[in-house]
Amino acid sequence: MLRFAPSPTGDMHTGNLRAAVFNYILAKQRNEKFLLRIEDTDTARNIEGKDKDIMFLLHLFGITWDNLVYQSNNFPHHRQLAEYLLAQGSAFYCYCTKEFLENKREEAKARHEAFRYDDSWAELEKTTNPKPVVRLRGSQVEMKFVDCIKGEIEFAPNEIDSFVILKEDGIPTYNFACAADDMLYDIDFIVRGEDHVSNTPKQILIHQSLGYAKEIKFAHLPILLNDEGKKMSKRDNASSVQWLLDSGFLPQAIVNYLILMGNKTPCEVFTLQESLEWFDISKIAKAPARFDIDKLKFLNREHFKRLCEQDLAVLLGYKDSSIGALAKIYLQEASTLNEIREKIDRIFVKKTLILNQIESLDKKDLSGVESQSAEILGFKAEILSLQKTLLEMLEEQDWTRGEFNAFKEIAMQKSTLKGKKFFKPLRFLLTGFTHGPELSDLFPILRLYLKEIVRS
Ligand code: GLU
Repeated sequence: MLRFAPSPTGDMHTGNLRAAVFNYILAKQRNEKFLLRIEDTDTARNIEGKDKDIMFLLHLFGITWDNLVYQSNNFPHHRQLAEYLLAQGSAFYCYCTKEFLENKREEAKARHEAFRYDDSWAELEKTTNPKPVVRLRGSQVEMKFVDCIKGEIEFAPNEIDSFVILKEDGIPTYNFACAADDMLYDIDFIVRGEDHVSNTPKQILIHQSLGYAKEIKFAHLPILLNDEGKKMSKRDNASSVQWLLDSGFLPQAIVNYLILMGNKTPCEVFTLQESLEWFDISKIAKAPARFDIDKLKFLNREHFKRLCEQDLAVLLGYKDSSIGALAKIYLQEASTLNEIREKIDRIFVKKTLILNQIESLDKKDLSGVESQSAEILGFKAEILSLQKTLLEMLEEQDWTRGEFNAFKEIAMQKSTLKGKKFFKPLRFLLTGFTHGPELSDLFPILRLYLKEIVRS
């Protein structure tokens, strides 16, 4: 069985989603079950509702699970396993207070040594501290495991000192609950972030101490870097899955990118389902992967192209599939749902309401002229005059099947405007912008809505 084991302690990180995607793919490829395990062991940091948020997001990305477990429901099993380890001597009660351990830590620091727990301290404070923790006895031998991405990883004998498995309130630590549940649910392949590499020997030691011999495969995913090449942190917008969605990236494009980055894939644009055919975790690069938002934008445009026009229209909040066709033309200059929506909404806005935005909209284009504001005033007057002309034309004739050339010729004649003085106001009246795709490309769709578009 494969599993994704998020902690409900914060918003889903892009790196977590990547781990979820890879575990899901491996489960499908190996024809094994996929477990969603909510790791709610850190009772102080759990946030109400985050479990539901995680499930909602996974569904949105097309990741479904066969089994759902809240780790806290298994606490009684974890305690039983700790009892067993105590009984057979591989775990022991440790009565050290936090102050005692803090002093020892300071002493080690002063000696420029790494802090290591010494088993002989366990009962020094037994008479004064009624709340012991349970520790698993550290490893006396070298520990190693083979990682599918990083290769063999070794830990010296003294690196794994005796560590806490049950806290003083009887709640299992992350490592213990995780290793116990991986055993109880027969997990055989674990994909997770590289930050867990140092936990892995501890979890293996827990299994060994419990007499659990199953060999589990591991793949630790290299960290993600931001566009400056630094470790991606919460401060980087792209680290938040919700931010990516709110910015108008499609779930299918995000998944595509998470599979593509730092990987060797047979093609660049694909769906999650398609990747099941060829995904190979051993092809993931050892080096950290840089999150390239421009690449994601490219993939987003590609996935928009793959959407049918009707679905695209609905995503944009419109009913007619022709709006989806219009949106596809705007992919020339827009990459996200938000950017496309801005373009489409603007077509249908009453242009008189946005006349005052022309100054900021058109600065680049009108700069360099002697009197900029006079130029803009002139432009606004041309728009209003052309609007009148177009409204008259729409009264006289039904243009829903009309050709752009004919429309343009008649409008030009009637308005007596010429060249740029005609085309710029025309573009503004039809699209709400002074730049954009060719009007002749847009017109076959715009003509269906001209009365609405040009209305005063
Ligand atoms: N709850 C851990 C996390 O969110 C899971 C680590 C693991 O997959 O073992 O990082």
